[in-house]
Amino acid sequence: MSPGTDAAFTLGDLMSDTILDRRQFYINGSWVDPDTANDFDVIDPSNEEACAVISLGGEADTNAAVAAAKAAFPAWAATPVEERVALLEKLYDIYKARAGEMAEAITTEMGAPQDMSAAQQVGAGIGHLKSIIRALKEFAFERPLGEHAPDNAILYEPVGVCALITPWNWPMNQVTLKVIPAIGVGCTMVLKPSEIAPLSGSLFADMVHEAGFPAGVFNMVHGDGLGVGTQLSGHPDVDMVSFTGSTRAGVAITKNAADTVKRVALELGGKGANIVFADAGDTAIDWSVWRCFNNTGQSCNAPTRMLVERSIYDETVEKARIAAEGTAVGPPTVEGRHIGPVVSEAQWNKIQGLIAKGEEEGARLIAGGQGRPDGFDKGYYVKPTVFVDVDPDMTISREEIFGPVLAITPFDTEEEAIALANDTPYGLTNYVQTTDKDKARRVARQLRSGMVEMNGTPRGAGAPFGGYGQSGNGREGGEWGIEEFLEVKSVSDYY
Ligand code: NAD
Repeated sequence: MSPGTDAAFTLGDLMSDTILDRRQFYINGSWVDPDTANDFDVIDPSNEEACAVISLGGEADTNAAVAAAKAAFPAWAATPVEERVALLEKLYDIYKARAGEMAEAITTEMGAPQDMSAAQQVGAGIGHLKSIIRALKEFAFERPLGEHAPDNAILYEPVGVCALITPWNWPMNQVTLKVIPAIGVGCTMVLKPSEIAPLSGSLFADMVHEAGFPAGVFNMVHGDGLGVGTQLSGHPDVDMVSFTGSTRAGVAITKNAADTVKRVALELGGKGANIVFADAGDTAIDWSVWRCFNNTGQSCNAPTRMLVERSIYDETVEKARIAAEGTAVGPPTVEGRHIGPVVSEAQWNKIQGLIAKGEEEGARLIAGGQGRPDGFDKGYYVKPTVFVDVDPDMTISREEIFGPVLAITPFDTEEEAIALANDTPYGLTNYVQTTDKDKARRVARQLRSGMVEMNGTPRGAGAPFGGYGQSGNGREGGEWGIEEFLEVKSVSDYY
């Protein structure tokens, strides 16, 4: 394709027999070539081979995308919300119709097993599209201040040009949580998907194109953190950065955005505690192990620290060992319930190093361990691993591992469990397993985290997602995710 063509690609665009060509960016309503070629291979984690090539953008590409978003902003902000929502509803239909392509892209780029990819990875995007569209329809963009000041109005207006920077682990979950509310409230934007898992981002841009949004409302540039990411966070014409990823990058973005006083919304890492009381339900341990290993442990909200009441500690350790040994590992292109590889060589090495650290520091390994699982001689596969007798000061209890590695620690009292759970710089999701409702509520109120999930019950559609402390400062989803992209204007003598 040549620069400026508006032809949509299909997943059939191949450079060779097996390599997809995804080097173009989506800027101002067209697929365009990079200003300067900077090829970057996308690695399929199941076989360690290049499956696609993208280009890492540079300053000229970033500037072109931001300029397109800036030019499109006034008209888009002035478009009635009903028209914006109607286009989002069209996008929702397209996303559902092309769900199979999306599942394939995510499976290829980050190794999610195909059934899991379709149900959970793609499904998360469907769920967010649906619930954010509903929240947009219900949101009052104009409201009176209150009966004490009857002439005063509060107007909610789009913040402006947004840079949306997303990670590889739940690619469409993150992209839809940002793009849908930003578009819906009248912002324009530049999306920079993770360079590690960029195929779903390109496909999503193609869906936006198919939906027929005005040129410049949505732009997408591939690139890395030091390049496009940094150019966006420091750009004088970007009004807001919405970032999901590591705490390290969140800090760098915040510092770089400070000179231009941008709004910065951060969704960062986590080290969730899962408090298992002696009166937990029968399925609590199986669920807890599965929930930790789901997505091969690559979830910011994974319950990676299992805190277990001492009276059921020994039986829990045995149940966890059986659950881990029963966790199948398999290629992502095979049907069924299993975990796939982790995303990259760098992540595989990091996880191996942390497993080694757990052993060195004296935690007791009861399942898994270092090296690939039996039967795999390539691919970034990790053994489902459980450490017990984990001291809260050990590295594996403090650092986000981002692999299928569970740390189990005993506790004696409710107060001790709460203190252990809160003893972390993070504060994203904590979990409580007990059949005693009063205790569950009492504990939930004392946990310093943005979310608490009880007894394996998922939080409802449209519930806010976000953390305390070093897990970030943003809230995504529902009305909270809409407010993130809005300025608040207070006007007197309006009514
Ligand atoms: P990462 O921080 O390395 O990268 C995330 C994104 O930021 C990528 O697009 C990357 O290119 C970009 N980036 C990196 N450095 C940057 C910089 N200095 N300036 C601007 N952009 C930069 O994270 P990752 O490895 O892709 O994802 C894993 C991390 O994401 C984990 O820590 C995980 O907990 C976190 N995460 C958080 C949530 C949440 O909602 N809280 C959800 C998913 C993942």
